[in-house]
Amino acid sequence: MAELTTEQLIAMDKDSLWHHLFQHKALETNNPLIVTGGKGLMIEDISGKQYLDAVSGAVWCVNIGYGRERMAKAVYDQLIEMPYYAGSAGNIPTIKLAGKLKELLPRLDKTFFANSGSEANEKAFKAVRQMNRLKGNNEKYKILYRDRDYHGTTIGALSATGQHERKADYGPFVPGFSSFEHACCYRCPFGKEYGSCEIECAQAVEWAIKREGGAEQVAAIIVEPITAGGGIIKPVPEYYPMVQKICKKYDVEMIMDEVVCGFGRTGKWFGHLHFDVDPDIMTTAKGMASAYQPLSCMMAKDHIFNVFKEDASDPLAFFRDISTYGGCAGSTAAGLENIAIMEEENLLDNTVKMGEYMLGQLNELRSMDLVGDVRGEGLFAGVELVVDKKTKQAVSEAQMAQVMADIAAQGVLCGRTNKSLPGLNNTVTLAPALVATKEDIDRIVGAIKNSLEKNAK
Ligand code: PMP
Repeated sequence: MAELTTEQLIAMDKDSLWHHLFQHKALETNNPLIVTGGKGLMIEDISGKQYLDAVSGAVWCVNIGYGRERMAKAVYDQLIEMPYYAGSAGNIPTIKLAGKLKELLPRLDKTFFANSGSEANEKAFKAVRQMNRLKGNNEKYKILYRDRDYHGTTIGALSATGQHERKADYGPFVPGFSSFEHACCYRCPFGKEYGSCEIECAQAVEWAIKREGGAEQVAAIIVEPITAGGGIIKPVPEYYPMVQKICKKYDVEMIMDEVVCGFGRTGKWFGHLHFDVDPDIMTTAKGMASAYQPLSCMMAKDHIFNVFKEDASDPLAFFRDISTYGGCAGSTAAGLENIAIMEEENLLDNTVKMGEYMLGQLNELRSMDLVGDVRGEGLFAGVELVVDKKTKQAVSEAQMAQVMADIAAQGVLCGRTNKSLPGLNNTVTLAPALVATKEDIDRIVGAIKNSLEKNAK
């Protein structure tokens, strides 16, 4: 296609591109954002305007930042050498990445590659269901999820998702999924206060298991270590050990969805490493290749994996799952290079340091009128906005939209939680690239502060 002018591109966008998560009416009066370049945390749009991207590519992916020539070269070299061969064969970067992941997470034995977070979660659901059938537990297929967590866009992963806005109109959903309460202290579903509660949010897992038929029927629970899109919710330290004990009591596998929290986002390689917990399955994506290539995976312990090789005489008794592009050599080469960059540049250390600084700065905003709560870990934070600190009434959608617009007008792009669910629609989210500096954080927090000042009352 010949070079197009900016005007032609905008016209073509409006005429032919169906944007993700987007109400297209807005394009009748506005032009779309067309991103043309990036370096570090900065991106540039087609008009040459620069923005500080505080959410790593809108949906917390570009952990190593933009403009990494090494990533392009690693992918290029691999594609020239050997781009792809499907099915049961391995290839060198894919084997190396599986080995590297095991080095990072020695308690998870085997890695199954895929392309997206949703797919990785689908694989986890299929693995636990089939594993139970192979063990003769034919009724043990139910999967429980937390009511503010998100696990993906496909119908199975959406069935395991707790955010109403994402689910409305797309049902009926897959049978065998049901929810339990979230673990956000600021909006405790049990009306309790941390310190005087009995961690009812963890006990809720047992109540849900019992309600759904106990050990006979419940196969797994799925949780995000720190809930991302549901409002940046880090459970209290007692939570995961209690949940794990309950899972063990009922022989229920724990699936940890590290799609967002993986690869340094929280200051450790994986979010669950902040807690005393040992998941049976972990899924991850996004920061895995920092979105330079699509890449995701499911990792499982051998007690799950081994079930699939027990009976070689049964032609159906192995994991009959494939993603055509799972383990594409260019993607796993990108995954390896991404980890190498993170290690060489000590990005986890930077995330811990800058994360502490960012949370410290955000906590200073607590005295402002609209700030109800500040939550986070590492370079991953949320600022929940309320009109009344006592009743915790959320800001209106219009107010939230204005706060976001006023932040963006200062050249800083932050994220926010979903629009239409009360109590879920009012958190500004931050997940800058792990190369962020103090100056970047000052600029991000400064823009939020200015916007909150402007929008107070
Ligand atoms: N799990 C979590 C926690 C996510 O935040 C997301 C995406 N935002 C997914 C799964 C789904 O990932 P994908 O969009 O790559 O399918």
